[in-house]
Amino acid sequence: MFAKKTDFVSRFSDAVGRPCREGVFLKNYSNFKVGGSADYFFDARTEKKLVSAVQFVKTSAFPYYIIGGGFNILFSDEGFRGLIIRNSIKGLKKIEKKVIKVKSGTPLQELVDFCLHKGVGGLEFLAGIPGTVGGAVYGNAGAFGCDIGSLLMNARILTESGKTLQVEKNYFGFGYRWSRLKINKDVLLDVRLQGKAKAQAEIKKGINESLQTRKKKHPPYGTACAGSYFKNPVLPSGEKVAAAALLDQVDAKEKKTGAAAVYSGHANFIINQGNATSQDIRLLAGELKQKVYKKFGVKLEEEVIFLPAEP
Ligand SMILES: Cc1cc2nc3c(=O)[nH]c(=O)nc-3n(C[C@H](O)[C@H](O)[C@H](O)COP(=O)(O)OP(=O)(O)OC[C@H]3O[C@@H](n4cnc5c(N)ncnc54)[C@H](O)[C@@H]3O)c2cc1C
Repeated sequence: MFAKKTDFVSRFSDAVGRPCREGVFLKNYSNFKVGGSADYFFDARTEKKLVSAVQFVKTSAFPYYIIGGGFNILFSDEGFRGLIIRNSIKGLKKIEKKVIKVKSGTPLQELVDFCLHKGVGGLEFLAGIPGTVGGAVYGNAGAFGCDIGSLLMNARILTESGKTLQVEKNYFGFGYRWSRLKINKDVLLDVRLQGKAKAQAEIKKGINESLQTRKKKHPPYGTACAGSYFKNPVLPSGEKVAAAALLDQVDAKEKKTGAAAVYSGHANFIINQGNATSQDIRLLAGELKQKVYKKFGVKLEEEVIFLPAEP
C-alpha cells in the first residue's frame, strides 16, 4: 500500500494540504487516559480538510477511524494501525427562530451555551454531557429521558462512497444509544436541531438542574472514565432496568483490576485510577458482565466503544 511511513505522510500532505502526525499517543485523546500510539493522526479543523483526509484514505484503502472528544472510546494498549482523524470542525448558527445549525465537531457544552444565549430551549438535558455533536449523534446521546436524535431535523454526511449528502432524521433510525452511523461508515458533517420556544430563565434553570443531578451521581469532573460503561438492559420480562442496579447487587463497587476500578458512587462507571491499561478495564468489565449474567441471566452490552489496534 505504502512502501514506507514517509510515503504515507508525504502523499497525505499532498492530497490534504496539511501534514498528519506520526506515532501519536491516543491516551492524550481519550477521557479514559488510556491507549497506545496511533500510526498516524490528523486533526481536521475544516470540513474541506476532513473530507479530503477521508477521501484520501478511502481511495488508498488505508484503515482510518474518526473521533470527536474521545469521551466514549476505549483505545487499545497497542494503539491503532492506521490513521485517526479527529473531528475539530466547529460552528453554530441560529437559522430560524428555534432551529440551530451546528457543525459536528462542536462540543455539546458550546451548543448548550449558545442555545441559552439565543433563547432556544429543549437542549438543556445535554448540559454536562461531554463530547462533540458528532459523537452524540453517533450514539444518540441523552439523559433524563431525552436524546439528541429526537431534536435532529436533518444533517449533512460524508457517505461511505465519499460523497456529501443531506439526509433527513429517519435516515438515522435512532434508538436507545443507537444510530445508523454505527453500522455504516458515514461521517457526520453538520446537523439542524429543532429547539423549543422558552424563556431564558427557564432554560437556565433546566441547565442548572441537569448539572446538579449529574454532580450528585457522576464521578467528579476530570475523572478518567468514559461515562456509563454498559447500556441499560431489558429484562426477559420486557422491563428496562438500570445497569447500575444490577451491578450493585453483584457488589460491583468493590471490584478492581490493576488501576481500573468501579466508581464508589455509581456502579456503572469504570474509572482509571492512574495508570490503568485498556486490558485492565476490559478485564474488569468482563468480570462484571459475568457476575451479572450468572445472577440475573442478563447479558450486559457495552456502551463504551472499544477500538481494536487492527481494524
Ligand atoms: C463523565 C461522563 C458522563 C457522560 N454522560 C453521558 C450521558 O449522560 N449520556 C450519554 O449519552 N453519554 C454520556 N457520556 C458519554 C459521551 O459523553 C457521549 O457518548 C458523547 O456523545 C461522546 O462524544 P465524543 O465526541 O467524545 O465521541 P467519541 O468518544 O470521540 O466517539 C464516539 C463514537 O462516535 C463516532 N463519531 C464521533 N464523531 C463522529 C462524526 N462526526 N461522524 C461519525 N461518527 C462520529 C466515533 O467514531 C466513535 O465511534 C458521558 C461520558 C463521560 C466521560
